[in-house]
Amino acid sequence: TFGWSIIGASQIARSWVGAAIRANPQARLVSVMSRDRSRGEAFARALGIAKVETALEAVLNDPTVDALYVSTGNDRHAEVTLAAAAAGKHVLCEKPLGLTLEEAVGMAQACDRAGIVLATNHHMRAAATHREIRRLVQSGAVGRPLAARALYCEYLPPELQTWRTRDPRQGGVLYDLTVHNVDALRFALGADPVEAMGMKASSLIGAGGVEDQAQSVLRFDSGLIAYLHEGYAFAHHETALEVHGETGSIYGRGIMDEAPNGTVFLRRNKEMTEIPTEPVNLYEGTVAAFQAAIREGSRPAATGWDGVWSLAAALAIRESAETGRMVAVPDVS
Ligand code: NDP
Repeated sequence: TFGWSIIGASQIARSWVGAAIRANPQARLVSVMSRDRSRGEAFARALGIAKVETALEAVLNDPTVDALYVSTGNDRHAEVTLAAAAAGKHVLCEKPLGLTLEEAVGMAQACDRAGIVLATNHHMRAAATHREIRRLVQSGAVGRPLAARALYCEYLPPELQTWRTRDPRQGGVLYDLTVHNVDALRFALGADPVEAMGMKASSLIGAGGVEDQAQSVLRFDSGLIAYLHEGYAFAHHETALEVHGETGSIYGRGIMDEAPNGTVFLRRNKEMTEIPTEPVNLYEGTVAAFQAAIREGSRPAATGWDGVWSLAAALAIRESAETGRMVAVPDVS
């Protein structure tokens, strides 16, 4: 079996990813590392983990640990991943991969050089709905895709209104949700963004200049243009992923989520047809694909370089919002 350590006693590790690792028959949850021993102990009790560490060094020196799930705040993803690469441990890293493009590229390069698998937790690639949309696009069900939309607006629960809404260094929807929208579009379309125009605002719950919504348009290398909207202040908004082609439109409604929610429709003229999908746990799918990548050399759901791409586009949108100019998205392939 495959030994995991969770780095950071975070909310997402507690609510989804820890359970997904535990549910995998080939995985062992060896330890959790928290900078705060009592937080680590509470986390370990809740998930039935035997070992609590408070120093990363101890995890890296543990021969029973094969992989780290990096679930720290955004500002520590790079430092932990670089240390893991140096120690020869595989990494499933939370998004955004880093705070800057240099950080993220450095992480992907270091893991490539060390010969370890780096995957980004863009969990929606494991969703049956997202996979079905990608399959429909690839099979030509809507002809040539001309336009797309990704809408990830929700109301951030009060308990999550911490660094996300207050810390200008690592908070805001661009790092948090725009990267997911960019990755969902890249996955569905099989295309890469080349240019960005964006605006951002602190509308309701963002403090200290932290944006709680962003709207943008991306041009892709296929010629398609896509509209993206992310927000923390929308209690009544349905999320969506849409692809509009020459011969039809795909509507993924309510599918930008942590849970396997939502429905896919194919629309021709004025007729909407539901395309049935079987809900699967997105985090379990991501964990299984990551382990297969290590075992068999297959591709994780989202690679480290996919995480570099989503961050590159989100940073281009930020720069556009701050300068009022169109910004090129660097080709990071
Ligand atoms: P949290 O705010 O819950 O935790 C972040 C870090 O802060 C933890 O690793 C922990 O580190 C520390 N921490 C936890 N609780 C507290 C507390 N009460 N007081 C002070 N420090 C605390 O993070 P999230 O779960 O919201 O996000 C973690 C990462 O996962 C982020 O990078 C985020 O972008 C990503 N994420 C990804 C999602 C996905 O679906 N792919 C969904 C949600 C988040 P330590 O124990 O070492 O102190």
